[in-house]
Amino acid sequence: MRELEEQLARAKLLASITQHIRESLDFDEILTTAVTEVRQVLQADRVLIFHLTSQGSGVVIKESVLPEYPVTKEMLFLDECFPEQCYEYYCQGRPRIVLDVCKDEWADCLAEFMEQVGVKTKIVAPIVQMDDDNLPKVWGLLIVHSCAYYRQWQSSDAELVQHISDQLAIALKQADLYSQLQTSETHLRNAFETAVNGMAMLTLSGHFMQVNPALCQLLGYSKSELLQFAVQDLIQPEELDQHHNHIQDLIADRTLSLQIESELRHKSGKTRWAICSVSVVRDPEGEPLYFVVQVQDINERHALEQLKSEFISSVSHELRTPLTSIRGSLGLLASGVLDHQPEKHKRLIEIAAIESERLVRLVDDLLDLERLQSQQVTLHPEWFSAMSLIQQVVENLRPTADSNNVHLDIEPTSVQVWADSDRIIQVLINLVSNAIKFSPSGSTVRLSVQSQNDEELLQSSDKQQDVLEPARSIAISPYSQVVFQVTDQGRGIPADQLELIFDRFQQVNKSDSRDQAGVGLGLAICKNIVQQHGGLIWAESKVGQGSTFYFTLPVP
Ligand code: ADP
Repeated sequence: MRELEEQLARAKLLASITQHIRESLDFDEILTTAVTEVRQVLQADRVLIFHLTSQGSGVVIKESVLPEYPVTKEMLFLDECFPEQCYEYYCQGRPRIVLDVCKDEWADCLAEFMEQVGVKTKIVAPIVQMDDDNLPKVWGLLIVHSCAYYRQWQSSDAELVQHISDQLAIALKQADLYSQLQTSETHLRNAFETAVNGMAMLTLSGHFMQVNPALCQLLGYSKSELLQFAVQDLIQPEELDQHHNHIQDLIADRTLSLQIESELRHKSGKTRWAICSVSVVRDPEGEPLYFVVQVQDINERHALEQLKSEFISSVSHELRTPLTSIRGSLGLLASGVLDHQPEKHKRLIEIAAIESERLVRLVDDLLDLERLQSQQVTLHPEWFSAMSLIQQVVENLRPTADSNNVHLDIEPTSVQVWADSDRIIQVLINLVSNAIKFSPSGSTVRLSVQSQNDEELLQSSDKQQDVLEPARSIAISPYSQVVFQVTDQGRGIPADQLELIFDRFQQVNKSDSRDQAGVGLGLAICKNIVQQHGGLIWAESKVGQGSTFYFTLPVP
């Protein structure tokens, strides 16, 4: 009867430890349970786990011991304590019963220790693991001590202890795999979290399951906000409809991945262009589980492309107008119908010449702007007198002003300027010739230059909304500025165009390009030159009364 009870208790112990190993991935906790339960079931005085740290040496890492016996936990044993022969025996996964520890041929050096901790007999069962080359290696030993008397351990006792050791070896392997899994999971999570591109996992119905910080930043939402959304909330329905068939092909495994250029809705209400690369993750049977989406922000690239295509269409348009005139004039001349009408003949040649000049100017301006924008122009700054500079400009433009009956007026100044004089003359010529072009006959165009400190500029900015932006920037500059002004009494510029006219091909009236022979690049060039000098350029105007163009140059 007692024997039966004992067998039952042993079977229960084995089952309980096996169960524990299946349910828990906490190896430390499994070892604690094992030593405690083995000691109870075998009614031993001490059960411990000795872990081999390197060949033959090791440390006691777990122990369950009756209070009357010394504690061995954390005791360290060095190399010589573990003979090679013994190690090889344990590698085979075989337990040992030692019926008198003082006579243990494989543990001579342990005799003293055994006496100290009061051990008389013991069972030792190895915990064996396979190494990387699939060779057995002793990870540790499960050791059962009898201290009270010379207990006659049975082979069934040793078998039980070995069974438990084998279970512990399984638990150890599981814990190893789990920690490898955790490491690779951490690596994957880190890659997901730190990816530069937005990344998301979506259910097959399009709901966000997982999003990374880059995607949150791209869309302006927090992670918890995005996890409430489906992709349908971020993409126009028409766009989704457009990709419906491709997405179905992807789910059905007819295509491997999908690239969609989409306009995604940002939290601010604006949209952002992005390339979404979509693929499907499947289970081992090939059933689709969820989508993985990579989102690359191409908003700036998209804006640049748009700008480029607008630019190309503007340039083509600007080139086409004069070319059509030239072709028309030359065609008429070539046909000979006007051979006997010298006046009309002359007029057509004039038109062709004017339009050719316009073409050359357009191409020159385009090349100049391109060079300035790509920083290919090196400035050669020097000190010069502002007065001599504006005098040169006025002399240069006097014939044009005279033919338009516009008076040019200079306000005397002694200001010195540090700049590339040729480039500043280019800016002034453009501003003054614009002023002449858009002024009525009999009016005056005035040029002046003043030195100003930062506060004065800031005060002047309060008077005019349009200068608020540049003036603020000036306020942070440590230098005082030189301010150039070109004032006319012409037709003026509407407030909503005051900034736009500094962009390429921007003209207030469509007819300006025809009537005034302009190409809309002059102010864009001026802006570039002034900015390269570290200055600012802006305009103030009252429609019907006139305009003033300002630009500043910092004084070093
Ligand atoms: P362009 O004079 O060759 O057309 P700009 O870039 O120099 O090119 O000027 C752009 C546009 O700004 C002009 O076409 C005109 O509509 C407007 N503009 C420039 N200066 C003046 C001015 N002083 N008065 C009125 N409008 C002006």
